[in-house]
Amino acid sequence: MTTLFISDLHIDADNPDIAEQFIGLLEAEALEADALYILGDLFESWIGDDDPNEHYATIKQALRKLVDQGVPVYFMHGNRDFMIGEDFAAETGVSILPDPYVLDIHGARVLLSHGDAYCTDDVEYQEVRKMTRNPQWQAMMLTKPVEERLEFAARAREASMAHGGSISEDITDVNSSAIEQALHEADVSIMLHGHTHRPHVHSLTVDRRDCTRIVLGDWYERGSIVRWNEDGPVLSPVQRRTWDV
Ligand code: MN
Repeated sequence: MTTLFISDLHIDADNPDIAEQFIGLLEAEALEADALYILGDLFESWIGDDDPNEHYATIKQALRKLVDQGVPVYFMHGNRDFMIGEDFAAETGVSILPDPYVLDIHGARVLLSHGDAYCTDDVEYQEVRKMTRNPQWQAMMLTKPVEERLEFAARAREASMAHGGSISEDITDVNSSAIEQALHEADVSIMLHGHTHRPHVHSLTVDRRDCTRIVLGDWYERGSIVRWNEDGPVLSPVQRRTWDV
């Protein structure tokens, strides 16, 4: 049996084809899977579980359907959807995991993370991260009207684009010392994360042990998925269907 891992779909009402492809995955391949892990940035932005946007309702229903059919779905916060909360979890049946999280899978222990915490070279970003992940800051944001939060999210996105100029280039890559430290602290030899939009399987040595770091890609141009069965993990692109007829 296979466990599926994805991240960085960045689902947004402006890009409905990504949502369609995701729902296609939920209704077909994921139904046959042991479990589905979504390692952050499922959504391009999330201003709170009370967002009335109908586009999100469709996604929530599709997740609920998969969970109700017996496939557990796990979600870890990304830097775009860190405001996903308990109401979302209750509505969808999705379990929210802490970041990082060590998963036992087919005899291996793998460290799962969104990945942004390891981008320590971007000091400015880490400061924003620290602020926005603070439960008090989040509680304060949630007291604001939906309209105001949507405006805040739009401004944050503009600032992020201005920071680097394009969607992926503004993401600093992970810092190798931060990665080594994470593998050492978790006492694992394999890790899996997203965030950087640089899909690749890296080999490295930590504590004189051969280690592997698998990086999932984003779903803007084409999807990215890790399928993990008895033979180990395989990172593959997901071919985007063509919607033009
Ligand atoms: Mn991210």
